[in-house]
Amino acid sequence: MRKLSLALAAAFALGLAGAAQAQPYPTRPITLVVPFAAGGPTDTLARIIGERMRQSLGQTIVIENTTGAAGSIGVGRVVRAPADGYTVGIGHWSTHVVNGAIYPLTYDLLKDLDPVALLPANPQLIVTGPKVPAKDLKELIAWMKENQDKISGGTAGVGSASHIGGIYFQQKTGTKYPFVPYRGTGPAIQDLVAGQIDIMVDQSSNSLPHVQNGKLKAFAVTAAKRIPSAPEIPTVDEAGLPGFYISVWHGLWVPHGTPPDAIARLTGAAQEAMADPAVQKRLADLGQEIPPREAQTPEGLHKHHVAEIEKWWPIIKAAGIKAE
Ligand code: ASP
Repeated sequence: MRKLSLALAAAFALGLAGAAQAQPYPTRPITLVVPFAAGGPTDTLARIIGERMRQSLGQTIVIENTTGAAGSIGVGRVVRAPADGYTVGIGHWSTHVVNGAIYPLTYDLLKDLDPVALLPANPQLIVTGPKVPAKDLKELIAWMKENQDKISGGTAGVGSASHIGGIYFQQKTGTKYPFVPYRGTGPAIQDLVAGQIDIMVDQSSNSLPHVQNGKLKAFAVTAAKRIPSAPEIPTVDEAGLPGFYISVWHGLWVPHGTPPDAIARLTGAAQEAMADPAVQKRLADLGQEIPPREAQTPEGLHKHHVAEIEKWWPIIKAAGIKAE
């Protein structure tokens, strides 16, 4: 009798373990690592998409801001996390392309991460505080040259999108000013509004709300097309810096070796988020453009990632930008 009940207990325990294993992913909260400060553009996108993904996945998405070294520390945190589907990283053009050309990374951006989904892209805006007297880009450049030793620009660290945009701007305009690094352009934009720094080449999703409430002035958008929700801002071509295009595209990645069914669930949830009209409206208001649905896949992200590395590494290396 005792033997039988022990056998029954063992069978019951095994059954329970089996049932637990059969529970579909995800069974607990998922951590989404944002490699920049809270309140900045990457954080905002992570919160908009993550909140909608929660509805599809039925589990909370906890945002974790692991900042520093232009996002390379946060990306390293994802690379080293267990490959179980419970740690996901959001990144963008500079964290997953530019950083590979300028930082001595301890990980391989293509081999140590598995792609999940290509996310929206936004251009940058050339923005200043409201007190800068210039009315257009030509006047701004002239004003900057006259005030060269008094002005400074904000960035999210060496190699961040805002830093590359700033260097590109200086090269194209012949201006020169020091860069002040922050843990993200969220805190940097606060200092721009407050007048502590003078200029930024910043993602539209970060600065546009401040431009629209009169706290910042925008002189041009780094794209061939104007932003539909801010048609008053000229393109760089129209404003006098032809071809100064930067598109900060985003993606979701997981540690290499994450189970394919978990990746498929995450991809599906990201696609559902980008198909939701409420999400689409919030993103459009920030100047974010959603990629076509067929490109939102792991394959779509991988293809784009490889093409961008091939395009940008020679440019960044030739420009001699180094991590300090
Ligand atoms: N994406 C960064 C942030 O969220 C900024 C940057 O790359 O310039 O702060």
